[in-house]
Amino acid sequence: MSSGDGELTALLGDLVRIDSQNPDLVPGAPGERAIAEFCVRWFAAHGIDAWVDEVKPGRCNAVARVRGGDGPTLTLCAHLDTVSIDGMTAHGLEPRIEDGRMYGRGTYDMKGAVAAIMVALVEVAKDPPAGTVLAALVCDEEFASIGAGDFVQRYHSDACIVTEPGDGRLIVAHKGFVWAEIGTSGVAAHGSRWEDGVSAIARMGRIIAALDHFDRTVLREHTHPLLGPASMHCAMVTGGDGWSTYAPHCTLRVERRTLPGESAASVLKELRRIIDTAGEQAEVREVMSRSPLECPPESVIARSVIDSVTTATGDAPEIAGVAYWMDAAIFADAGAETVDYGPTGAGAHGAVEWVDLESVARCAGVLTGSVTRYFMTKATTQVR
Ligand SMILES: [Zn+2]
Repeated sequence: MSSGDGELTALLGDLVRIDSQNPDLVPGAPGERAIAEFCVRWFAAHGIDAWVDEVKPGRCNAVARVRGGDGPTLTLCAHLDTVSIDGMTAHGLEPRIEDGRMYGRGTYDMKGAVAAIMVALVEVAKDPPAGTVLAALVCDEEFASIGAGDFVQRYHSDACIVTEPGDGRLIVAHKGFVWAEIGTSGVAAHGSRWEDGVSAIARMGRIIAALDHFDRTVLREHTHPLLGPASMHCAMVTGGDGWSTYAPHCTLRVERRTLPGESAASVLKELRRIIDTAGEQAEVREVMSRSPLECPPESVIARSVIDSVTTATGDAPEIAGVAYWMDAAIFADAGAETVDYGPTGAGAHGAVEWVDLESVARCAGVLTGSVTRYFMTKATTQVR
């Protein structure tokens, strides 16, 4: 690490010490106001335009902007919230440095990247590009992503680099998911009245068997080169009124993990077809869904990160996809070319969490380089 990285490490330590556990996961936690205000003060002290956007009471994004012309807008995004510190064996909010690693909640997921974005923006501001660079330090990624949702409502981005920890890989794809509820109806009757009663649970049983078969056969064959197969599982089931009553209702909650090209509408259609084929009838409704992400590796934003990593490390990054969902899809859905590149470490949501400090410094350098390359490429393609 160079001597300038001392400031980056100190900044990361300050960020870890500010409790930003997500209050929807940890009742009574303070939310992201304090950390967002800290980031805004830090940017202001470095001469950068920054402000807090309150998304809901106590739930805040910190936004910063460097503007050097009328060109496109590139956003660098990280989340400010963390999961609970309960269950951590050490160093929840009191960071410790050992062997080039910083330990503590949020070091890896993802205050290391928050610090990298902040330092990168200061570098970018020294020679502003012909466009706008925004830092989106958002709240609530760990629960409902209201921070990223609010940000894309307020600000247009042409491209975005999300910085969730990716161990130095360039992540260009992730899965989405659909939560669906399936309801069957039966006919309530006394437990002895076999000729009158119809069990909604037995009907659901046939549907569950059909869904499970579909998952193990059809979905295993439905694969994406970076993401592997789509999948589905029966997550929760409720039903029945009593031991001696034919069950009048049964409800099943299904989670379907989706690949690029699939949507909530296509999943609901698929569920209805499976139920039909099983000879059953049921209500199917969407409860929540999140889109998958796919960004072509030849896009300007992906090329910019690949070239920047190659310059910084001597090697091109591995191009990868991940199974879990990220805020990246929210930016992509809003029309921004979006990829993910972030630091190296371990223990996200775990008992011992750490980030490799050198990878945080590298991330800051790669982000700065990516911004420069993105605007250079945009400028040359515009001239042509
Ligand atoms: Zn995260």
